[in-house]
Amino acid sequence: MQKVYDKLRELQHILLNEFEIEAELEEIPRELNELKRRFHKLERTIAEKEASKKHNTELLEQVSKDKEESKINKEKYEGQIKLIKTQKEYEALTSEIAQIDEKLAQIESEEFESMQELETLDTDLEKQTGLLQELKETIAGKEKEVSKFSAEKQKELDKYLKEKKTISIGLDKELIYKFEKIVKNKEGIGIISIKNTVCMGCNMLLPPQFVNNVRREDELIFCPNCSRILYYQQEEPAEEIAFQP
Ligand SMILES: [Zn+2]
Repeated sequence: MQKVYDKLRELQHILLNEFEIEAELEEIPRELNELKRRFHKLERTIAEKEASKKHNTELLEQVSKDKEESKINKEKYEGQIKLIKTQKEYEALTSEIAQIDEKLAQIESEEFESMQELETLDTDLEKQTGLLQELKETIAGKEKEVSKFSAEKQKELDKYLKEKKTISIGLDKELIYKFEKIVKNKEGIGIISIKNTVCMGCNMLLPPQFVNNVRREDELIFCPNCSRILYYQQEEPAEEIAFQP
């Protein structure tokens, strides 16, 4: 049984490396994904601003047309003033001209607003388009970095997986599966000693008969509390020789 225990300890060591690399592999693209997320968000903002620019440009064209039209009308009415004969006609005409002036003032205010809006949009768009280009370059660089680093890590992982395969020869598949889960869920320790009838993994006091069974080493025995595989550790007065992988 000592041989199985040794194998399990070695397997545990390999598993811990494997889990660590797997976690790293998951972490590697995180920054890149965040950059991509920012890129797409900026792309959407730019598209919205382009649409807004188009809308404002069209609006400005319409406003200019209205302005031209109103000016022509005003000139027409002003030309008619000389031909007027009655006070009533004069009043009607001047009132018409006053209305046009009011409309012109409104149009000019709209025109001013649209122009200002367009100016802001242009400034923003220039800045954001530059930023988008920068982000694109950063992402391209990061992608290279990530793929290189991932490949290295994958190579390392493959090495451990191969070692795992070798060490697993002669061990029950079901046991390996169970052991992996224990190592993963129990702080990286899947095999632990009993000392003074206590499980050193969870500090549970175990019945003497149970401890005897572990001591006999007829079969693998799991801690009823923490599920770790147990082995009996002769009491040693000196330092602890606990779960050294
Ligand atoms: Zn335990």
